[in-house]
Amino acid sequence: MIIISKPKLEEKDDKVILSVDFEIEGGKKKLWYSFSSNYKEYLVVEQVDAFVVGLLFLGLKTGHDLKLEGPISARLFYSLNHYLIDAFCLVNPNYKRIKVIPSSLSTSDFNVANTAGTGLSCGIDSFATYFDHNDEVSPYLIEYFTFFNVGSHGDKGGDKARKIFSERFINVSQFAEKVNREVITVDSNLSEILQMKFQETYNLRTISCALLLQKLFKNYYYSSGTRFDHFAFNNKEIADLDMLIIPNLSTESTTFFVSALKYSRIDRTKLISEFTQTYEHLDVCTHPYIEGRDEINCSECYKCQRTMLTLEILGKLECYAKVFDLDKFRKNKKEYIGWLLSKKKKLTLDRELIRVIKEMKQIDSEIYFYMIKNMLYRQKLKLKKIFN
Ligand SMILES: [Zn+2]
Repeated sequence: MIIISKPKLEEKDDKVILSVDFEIEGGKKKLWYSFSSNYKEYLVVEQVDAFVVGLLFLGLKTGHDLKLEGPISARLFYSLNHYLIDAFCLVNPNYKRIKVIPSSLSTSDFNVANTAGTGLSCGIDSFATYFDHNDEVSPYLIEYFTFFNVGSHGDKGGDKARKIFSERFINVSQFAEKVNREVITVDSNLSEILQMKFQETYNLRTISCALLLQKLFKNYYYSSGTRFDHFAFNNKEIADLDMLIIPNLSTESTTFFVSALKYSRIDRTKLISEFTQTYEHLDVCTHPYIEGRDEINCSECYKCQRTMLTLEILGKLECYAKVFDLDKFRKNKKEYIGWLLSKKKKLTLDRELIRVIKEMKQIDSEIYFYMIKNMLYRQKLKLKKIFN
């Protein structure tokens, strides 16, 4: 059993820290989230919603029920018991079917600010979410960005992830300033506690932070890389399940949406490339920025290459010359396409891009050479495995 206490709020200099103590296997631990004190009035201390969502994977992984000593949103509790826990167990057979045991259920609506927010990483999906809501009015217009340190800067957290978090924040805050929005940053020790792969757990980590701000957000948009028709129970790409998971985390105060579901990756890239504010801030790279590099993006990892190729197909690559090394792209382009075509496990996004490349009839002998080279290399590795 994991016993979760009532939330506590502490103030330290210009920060507020919201935390719960919890007990697991006889040991006592603390899960905390830290905010700028500017947002103190919007923090939910009355309910344990955020902490339950944050610790749910720990329960699913270890098979411990979650026993709550503070109230939980009745709507969230209903969704957990009727949909969410079963969905997670269905997608991942290693999870155990646990119970959430509440002390009391609350139907209070805490929301006071009646506004909307979304996470901003300056990647394709978060930009697409922002620009897709340009013409909305309150409470659907995005008035705040969030930027969380709950695993996207390093699965297991710690000082290294915290350093990348603050470095990436520079670009995020510069973009936010250009479009005249505030960024709410949240630091947390959730990664250190979960010790799980970010790729398998990111959705609940993010929503856990947003649930602390239920007084601020009437609506919160979650940017997922998927389109409606990608929906699937697939433990290799759990993002394909987001459109079921995310809305079911809504409470009486805050509604969660998976945004931009109508767009494919190429559609999203096209959408954002129509806005000049993205030209100096697009950040898609899997490698953290290293000091001394001229561009935010390494221009070598698969995400950089995929984005640059898409932008080139759309005729927009030159617009992003400040954030990508275009010479590096041109040098490696054919090798990248060869690698993409020869990939054994193709992601949905890979297949979409391949379809366009094939339609454009851009595959020449040099690309075939790299394709065959990759296939032979894989065969070699396979043989090596057999003979060892
Ligand atoms: Zn990169």
